[in-house]
Amino acid sequence: MTAKRPRPILLKNYRPPAYLIDTVELDIALDPTRTRVHSRLKLRPNPKAEKKKEPLRLDGEHLELAEVRLDGRTLTGKDYRLDDTSLTLKKTPAKAFTLDITTYVNPEGNKALQGLYRTNGVYCTQCEAQGFRRISYYLDRPDVLATYTCRIEAEMDEAPVLLSNGNPLERGTLAGGKRHYAVWHDPYPKPCYLFALVGGDLSSIASTFRTMSGREVDLRIYVEHGKESRAGWAMDSLKRAMRWDEERFGREYDLDVFNIVAVSDFNMGAMENKGLNVFNDRLILASPETATDTIFEAIESVVAHEYFHNWTGNRITCRDWFQLCLKEGLTVFRDQEFSGDERSETVQRIIDVRRLKSLQFTEDAGPLAHPVRPESYIEINNFYTATVYEKGAELVRMIQTLLGRDYFRKGMDLYFDRHDGEAATVDEFITCFEDASGTDLSHFKRWYSQAGTPELVCDLHFDPEKKRARLDVEQVLPPTPGQPHKKPLDIPLKLGLLGGNGQDLPLKLDGGPVLEDGVVHITKRKQSFKFSDIPSRPVPSLLRGFSAPANITVDLSDQDLEFLIANDSDLFNRWQAANTYAMRTLIETVRRLAKGKKASHGMRYAKALSTAISGEGLENAYRAELLTLPSQADVARVIGKNVEPVSIQRAHRRLMKLVGRTLGDQLEDLYDELADEGPFSPDAEGAGRRAVRNAALTLLTARGEKPDLERLSRHYFTATNMTDRAHALYQLAAQRSSDRERALNDFYEQWQGDHIVIDTWFAAQAHSPLASTLSRVKALTRHPLFALTAPNKVRALIGTFALTNPVQFNRADGAGYTFLADQVLALDRLNPQIAARMLSAFRIWRSLEPKRRAKARSALSRVARAKGGSPDVQEIVSKMLEL
Ligand SMILES: [Zn+2]
Repeated sequence: MTAKRPRPILLKNYRPPAYLIDTVELDIALDPTRTRVHSRLKLRPNPKAEKKKEPLRLDGEHLELAEVRLDGRTLTGKDYRLDDTSLTLKKTPAKAFTLDITTYVNPEGNKALQGLYRTNGVYCTQCEAQGFRRISYYLDRPDVLATYTCRIEAEMDEAPVLLSNGNPLERGTLAGGKRHYAVWHDPYPKPCYLFALVGGDLSSIASTFRTMSGREVDLRIYVEHGKESRAGWAMDSLKRAMRWDEERFGREYDLDVFNIVAVSDFNMGAMENKGLNVFNDRLILASPETATDTIFEAIESVVAHEYFHNWTGNRITCRDWFQLCLKEGLTVFRDQEFSGDERSETVQRIIDVRRLKSLQFTEDAGPLAHPVRPESYIEINNFYTATVYEKGAELVRMIQTLLGRDYFRKGMDLYFDRHDGEAATVDEFITCFEDASGTDLSHFKRWYSQAGTPELVCDLHFDPEKKRARLDVEQVLPPTPGQPHKKPLDIPLKLGLLGGNGQDLPLKLDGGPVLEDGVVHITKRKQSFKFSDIPSRPVPSLLRGFSAPANITVDLSDQDLEFLIANDSDLFNRWQAANTYAMRTLIETVRRLAKGKKASHGMRYAKALSTAISGEGLENAYRAELLTLPSQADVARVIGKNVEPVSIQRAHRRLMKLVGRTLGDQLEDLYDELADEGPFSPDAEGAGRRAVRNAALTLLTARGEKPDLERLSRHYFTATNMTDRAHALYQLAAQRSSDRERALNDFYEQWQGDHIVIDTWFAAQAHSPLASTLSRVKALTRHPLFALTAPNKVRALIGTFALTNPVQFNRADGAGYTFLADQVLALDRLNPQIAARMLSAFRIWRSLEPKRRAKARSALSRVARAKGGSPDVQEIVSKMLEL
């Protein structure tokens, strides 16, 4: 921790590095508390540097420096300057030179989980964003690309498996067989954030993949002993992802081996280190008994995501961290497309849009709003956000919508051709699409620099005499921190106009062509589009497929929504209409409850939903999405100010109950007919069946009758897979019945020995809306299986409570806020990155009603005043409080 307040780093201050590193030779002798790292760097002054003769300043933190040699000569304290964050050489040769640096690090003592650390006896590394500087002194920035050779040495017993990036070169034994070593070489130049090393006693499963040019690649997934049988799905996902990237984007894998290692303590989900992906083990290990369908889907998607980085991130990396979305937004887009192709395009889109709205729209509406390409940061780890990832993916998707799939692919091909082996920028990426398609995207680029969610206010007028419809669109761009005024964006608005029989009418622009793709471009603040040959008043279906990350306002009556739910040819929008209808009903109920009125409201919605789910030929997964009402947090986001969580909860419960009652027979039939028969399959079909059945169970349980609660208990106690069991456990944990404790005890007895599965037990209790939840959560922080040093435990217990339990976290007495502030302060001393993440649960505090707002502010102020806080936490808290 530096004592002085850290200064922000600004995009506009970017300068090319003064020195380049061509090769790195590492020699690392692993030891639990005193690992020796010897690094030999071949450096030279950068011919493209702006200033000549700058001293060489290497980044380094938490390192013990043993020796520095320059071209073989040992340097003394007079030759360099050393402080907490750097090593600066006073004089270096004008030409190429070699630097040998020996440092010591303590993997066991590293609880921040950045750099080299040890978890469950396994040595592993996490270098993105700036972890390498905790391993050795280096130019720790993504635009310094070098080839790496890494020799690792360790006790044979302690670490029989020794891995690094690239291909294996050599291995052997030392000291009479007690120690051994392995040498790895990565021929592809990379920034140090992609460096990785693993050493441990691990088991593995193996397979091979033949690439499109006929090369054979050895694939291996390393896991804890005894967990091998749970790695099969990840391996299967990897091979499908490798094939998909060849077919869809023409991208082939480039090394002889591809290794994945699953570790139990990891700050992120997974990391794309070249040829050696390191994963949080909950995103690798799965079996029907231990993992839910959601986890199976997440494994498929994250394994693909990290693999896809090999081209979008590794072969072409980012020039600086402001360009993070260049690799993340693009790679999220690629993994979404992969999941859509592997499963259902429409359902995948619904899942992605739900996620975007719940995470990113919330972020955009609060104090942490920032552009997809931020312009300043204090701690880059705070910018691994929904905006960079999810909205970043939406921007890539909009480029595809604007150009069409063919030109989009041509632009991607050009990007791979032009920038392979380089550290690129967002501007260079966009230029590839402009060059490939001949389209000017300069206006579109504003999306990268303007924060906030645009709102499209739409109005449709119909002139029965002229048989003409006019769509007026106004784009409203709400202010965000640091950006009070904004310029209009270039927004692709995909739409349809439905005629009286429910069919799409041809979109003939007045005096112009027919819009084949149904996309109009909104480029000005206010715009009108006239459509001719419209026989009768049409019903508009707007923002089809969610063609832009925007909110839409349009005056649709209940009848219009019912018409769209029954007829829209765009299945995404059919779901959207149902979701809008549910939201409208919920908000109206909240309003009525606030006025003390009776809330006999929602019957029409329930009936429309009943028609919707009985539509022919619909996939089960799609029906499950229809049956999943907006969450209480969604309602709070849409209400936006003076939020009172208890009234939202009451409205939500009433609607769930009403739907459960109105659709009762239909739901019971679905529940009975779709029971699993035969062996479990994690594929889209099986997962869809379980999803609709569990959604039906939730709505039936909401009726609260005795047989409903008995069904719920039966569902838990007779479950043959974790999807059903975990779903029922969450529901039971919310009930005040004796079966609650019976199920929780049963789950604990069965899974206390499994550090992944037991997280569901922590999370189910933290998620419960019962008034006793906070004291339960507090007690669980002292449970022997809980540890503040284990990020997955923190996320399961504290994260679930703060982020997914609106009523209990936002308790009127403020005790939820006090608890979170206490936990953040304790965590900050161990793992600042995770502490900052947890703190972001306060991001909605300004939208709360005044009493809760005051209590949240005082909890935040306490965090802000704490002595010795990390830059991670201080950056988030000062933004929250607008300091
Ligand atoms: Zn990524």
